[in-house]
Amino acid sequence: MASGFVNIRRDMDDQFYRYRMPILLTKIEGKGNGIKTVLPNMSDVARALSRPPSYTAKFFGYELGAQASVDEKNKRYIVNGAHDANRLRELLYDFIDKFVLCKSCKNPETELIMVKVGRSADIIRDCKACGERKGVDMSHKLSNFILKNPPIKARKGKKATNGDAAASVGGDDGDATTLPSQTAKRAVNAVAKVTTR
Ligand SMILES: [Zn+2]
Repeated sequence: MASGFVNIRRDMDDQFYRYRMPILLTKIEGKGNGIKTVLPNMSDVARALSRPPSYTAKFFGYELGAQASVDEKNKRYIVNGAHDANRLRELLYDFIDKFVLCKSCKNPETELIMVKVGRSADIIRDCKACGERKGVDMSHKLSNFILKNPPIKARKGKKATNGDAAASVGGDDGDATTLPSQTAKRAVNAVAKVTTR
């Protein structure tokens, strides 16, 4: 089967299970030392998991001991070397177990949130279904990548700090400290506009 959808949980074979994702596709490009595995639908698969595609691509790289390159702008996700599609699909399920599914109820509707612990931070899976909050394996290399590239959604409503955890995925770190005053100014302007009309 080269196209279609599969259940997000590998232990769930119910065809009416509501959480599904596109089957991960792979394409081998190049030759010799330049051979690489392109992941053409990585963004679609990652969207179904509510995770940035860079997380899954980097996860493959770490697990396979290969360089993974992420080009968000052109949606190009590549792992160096020739890798078997089924192996990558198995690794995707490992990613889902470790970084998506709620540890308690196995629901995939979780959000990764950063919780500061001293000078470091923990990554917590916040379950929308049962409310359970369980940490991820902080010793996994991907956890470090996530801390440096936090999901945008998790930052909303969070107080801006100087730390890495507050840096946005796309850069623009410099604005983090000035943000509260800017929003305050904007709010004042908005009120002014409303009252003058
Ligand atoms: Zn849960």
